[in-house]
Amino acid sequence: MDGKEFRVKGKEVVDYIVDYLETIRERRVFPDKKPGYIKDQIPDSAPIDGEKWDDIFKDVESIVMPGVTHWQSPHMHAYFPALNSYPSMLGEMLTNAINCLGFTWASSPACTELEMVVMNWLGKMIGLPEEFLHRKGGSGGGVIQATSECTLISLLAGRYVAIKMYTDLFPDATKHEINGKLVAYCSDQAHSSVEKAALIGLVTLRYIETDENFSMRGQDLLKAVKEDRENGLIPFWVCATLGTTGSCSFDNLEEITEVCYKELLWCHVDAAYAGSAFICPEFRVWLKGIKKADSIAFNPSKWLMVHFDCTAMVKNSSALHGAFNVNPLYLTHEYSGLAIDYMHWQIPLSKRFRSLKLWFVIRNYGITGLQEHIRKGVLLAEKFESLIRRDCRFEIPAKRYLGLVVFRLVGDNVITETLWKKLNSRGRIHCVPASLKGKYVIRFTVTSPRTTLDDIVADWKEIVRVTDEVLREREQVYSRSKVPLGETKEKNENFGTSLLLSNSPMSPRIVNGSFAAVYDQGDVLADFSRILRLRKDAQDSPAMRRRIRGILMSGKQFSLDSRLDLFHGIEPVFDKSDDRKLGNLPVVEDSNENEDKSSSPSGKELFGLQNQSKWSKIVYLYSRGCFLLLLPYNFLENNFDAYAETLEPRIRSKSVDHDMEPLTIKNCLEVKTVCSKCGHLVNGRVHEGEN
Ligand SMILES: *Cc1c(COP(=O)(O)O)cnc(C)c1O
Repeated sequence: MDGKEFRVKGKEVVDYIVDYLETIRERRVFPDKKPGYIKDQIPDSAPIDGEKWDDIFKDVESIVMPGVTHWQSPHMHAYFPALNSYPSMLGEMLTNAINCLGFTWASSPACTELEMVVMNWLGKMIGLPEEFLHRKGGSGGGVIQATSECTLISLLAGRYVAIKMYTDLFPDATKHEINGKLVAYCSDQAHSSVEKAALIGLVTLRYIETDENFSMRGQDLLKAVKEDRENGLIPFWVCATLGTTGSCSFDNLEEITEVCYKELLWCHVDAAYAGSAFICPEFRVWLKGIKKADSIAFNPSKWLMVHFDCTAMVKNSSALHGAFNVNPLYLTHEYSGLAIDYMHWQIPLSKRFRSLKLWFVIRNYGITGLQEHIRKGVLLAEKFESLIRRDCRFEIPAKRYLGLVVFRLVGDNVITETLWKKLNSRGRIHCVPASLKGKYVIRFTVTSPRTTLDDIVADWKEIVRVTDEVLREREQVYSRSKVPLGETKEKNENFGTSLLLSNSPMSPRIVNGSFAAVYDQGDVLADFSRILRLRKDAQDSPAMRRRIRGILMSGKQFSLDSRLDLFHGIEPVFDKSDDRKLGNLPVVEDSNENEDKSSSPSGKELFGLQNQSKWSKIVYLYSRGCFLLLLPYNFLENNFDAYAETLEPRIRSKSVDHDMEPLTIKNCLEVKTVCSKCGHLVNGRVHEGEN
């Protein structure tokens, strides 16, 4: 591509960009692509011959855009904002055109000088004390980096100061010995970049538990510091967060800097998101105590509509120099030591000309324009909060600060997680979750300057729609007393329905543990089934008929409540004159209620049969791997031994751990305990149920 073509194509790209941004609302904010989706669409290796620009650019819409999460969309509510703006893009274009590397002043004086001035602007805009600014004779100043990087350089600067101080105090100690004892502190809500910084710095990181507002407090920090000192460790660095990632909570900076000041600890302030809001004086309350802090970092790239890349401001740049100073001859220049060489302020040597875009944005919007943008975001978050509060199905478990609202459905974590997953997979709004002291919450951040009240209301409606769906589905799960057969079979083909008794609406009553797992139904049941028929009420209920048929025909293992359905659903038909129907089963005279006294009186109570008709005088046997036996009680009592004998060959070793007593009717009735786990009655013993 030559300059002539660039003039044309460049303008086309500008048009494309404007179209993209102006119609971004219509795109699905969160893509529905799976990992590897691009790999399948483009060749494995680079082209041998150059391609035409138009062919290349065509692939942006067809390959790239379908997999883009549209961070500039008004329906983007995940993370924190990462905004751009037209002046910022122009700045970036120019930076790319110049593409100088500003490691020393001489490597590109404008790059260093503009950064110094614009960083001073920024420091003043958020109300930082003078000490943080580049001043004649001062040691403060700002540098543009990524926030995570700022945390690390601040920790390394703090480490440098601590090691220097302790080697002065204990000349025999080596740097490495001191490093091994260093302890850094942050709150349990701090960003993961703090943990990473401590990992790289090889120092211990201690998390301070936050109070009920997710805020780190001075006395808790002090207690930890004292404890560690008593244990021979060296506390040296604290990261206070203003605007945590989880809920945008604020550590108590005033208390913390006070502790740091007295205990000689470096206090770094991570205000990545909230820092931008400090351009509005009404939000500076959280900055109270900043004078005693040593460094602060925030991202204009988050909320101030400047492209990604960020900021650190420090009070004591000589600590940075100490930490990073390397001075090879090829980097010295005529003004070395007189001008700032940003290479001493950062980990990489080179730096991009990043201040241009910041300069353009601040000038183009002006402080008032930027303030308006921040205030509008906060106002929309307030609106969203009030919509949530109007619906009692939701709760807001942490106070809303600035543009971030965290909310959840009242109830367990799973239901909020389900809501979140559904919202994201529909792709109309995009949020991320967080865990706040064990509570699963959905974070909703107002991000884009394009977001209007209508967008927020539309998002709210989407949330309500999905919530209705989630709650309806959950209700169905709960109102459905039985797990569908298909679902259970998928889990275990041996099970007819779930064996989980928690699924049972009826309390299990009549199963004797000593009987469980003993019988196979075999031909006994085949015989017996001939004298059973569906009860009238069961016949009238198609669902019940289907269910009982399912249980009888499948020959699978069923839960107790399924068996109870069977128990309630069928009744024996006794026609003493019809021998064919009764098969080989002995015919038993019906006994009448009063005669029952002769048998075990507790038996009836035990089996919960007091109020049942004579046909309920049935011993209900639950056996594994088969279905149930329904036996007339008297029959069993009178014929048990003989009957058991005939069954003996079919007794199998089953996997259920109920105690296997010798099979007698007495055992069957002398049941004392209901197993709390599975509901089986057990012979006075606790057993391990199969659940
Ligand atoms: C976003 C964020 C960071 C990380 O910022 P990067 O610029 O992405 O490294 C650090 N801390 C907090 C509190 C944040 O919100």
